[in-house]
Amino acid sequence: MADFTALRIKPQRFKADFETLAAIGSTEDGGVDRPSLSEAHLAARAWFRQRAARDGLTVAVDSAGNHSAVLPAVALDTPHLLLGSHLDSVPHGGRFDGALGVAAALEVLSTIKDAGLQLPISLEAIDFTDEEGTLVGLLGSAALVGRLTPGEIQSPRGGRQSLLAGLQRAALSEEGLFLARRDPASLAGYIELHIEQGPRLARSQTPVGVVTAIVGIASYRLIFHGRANHAGTTPMNERHDAGLGAASFMLAAHRLVVESFPDCTVNTGLLQLEPGAYNIIPGQANLALEFRSADDKEFEQLENALLALARQQADQFGLEFEANFLNRHAPAPMSVSMQQAIGQAAHCLELGYQAMPSGAGHDGQNLAHVCPAGMIFIPSQDGISHSPREFSAWQDCINGANLLLQSALAFTFEHYRP
Ligand SMILES: [Zn+2]
Repeated sequence: MADFTALRIKPQRFKADFETLAAIGSTEDGGVDRPSLSEAHLAARAWFRQRAARDGLTVAVDSAGNHSAVLPAVALDTPHLLLGSHLDSVPHGGRFDGALGVAAALEVLSTIKDAGLQLPISLEAIDFTDEEGTLVGLLGSAALVGRLTPGEIQSPRGGRQSLLAGLQRAALSEEGLFLARRDPASLAGYIELHIEQGPRLARSQTPVGVVTAIVGIASYRLIFHGRANHAGTTPMNERHDAGLGAASFMLAAHRLVVESFPDCTVNTGLLQLEPGAYNIIPGQANLALEFRSADDKEFEQLENALLALARQQADQFGLEFEANFLNRHAPAPMSVSMQQAIGQAAHCLELGYQAMPSGAGHDGQNLAHVCPAGMIFIPSQDGISHSPREFSAWQDCINGANLLLQSALAFTFEHYRP
């Protein structure tokens, strides 16, 4: 085997690709607006196909719209090592989220092809459909691993009409989404390069992060039932104010997580009071609760603690309480062998790294169910993401792409000797 550890990506080609992508659906404030299956997103995908073909990579689009560029192994029927991310963005998002990982994956394949390096498995750069959840969320990867459920398509978070309109624009069908499943035996693994989207790497001035797990996310709709009554004539000590129960819970939940679950997060992002008037004591409060943890056991403890706390706060204000479970994604540990390959590659590139969980959801959490999955983070300036102000230094992007290249090679030669 030739010494592959000296191989590096071509920074100019990588940068040109990144900038071309940043111009598609660009906004005046320096961000991009490419919601899933919008015209701008489809234009970015047209670019992907041209870019892959230009460098002689094989282009493939599956029935869930996932876009792939393949560098085939010499032998037929070899499994594929997927390197991917997503070209869709949140509305008025940044230029790095997703696009960086796709541009880097293409660059890695072109670099290996240019070098004439023969691999024992096929390499595949992949752009997953609807990662961000404008429509469904992690749609393409869920379809690919066979975890998409009809319920998610019937009542998607972005609304059913938006989903159907998007599918039509992309010439995709609802039935097709369920036909994109691949045999796990055909998947050698998955590696994604992504910006951290948080402040930790930038703060500790660490060039790269090796992701240990993607957090589990659960959501509930909490309902506090009180008694709507006259705001002026009901004595202060005789009220059953649903709003106070919800507000008190919001503060207590924040304190609980800060004090007792320092590695977790909680968010109460939506509060509706009913009937909702200046002169009526709130009779009902609907609260959106979301919480995250990277550890299974802690996730469960957090869930129990938050629900008990909500019940206790409801009691304190003389309210009835109801918790409606909405959604749960279990924490997804990244594969140890993939973390080792990334760590080994970082060592070889002399890049200091930090092991860390991902607080955001990613397609890797779906892939982790069927093959060894790993993720590489690079620093996000000031931890800003999902914003036009999202920024990563170009040298960090180059480091990340070289680490993606070397991790893919290290994993391949460790597990599939030629
Ligand atoms: Zn992303």
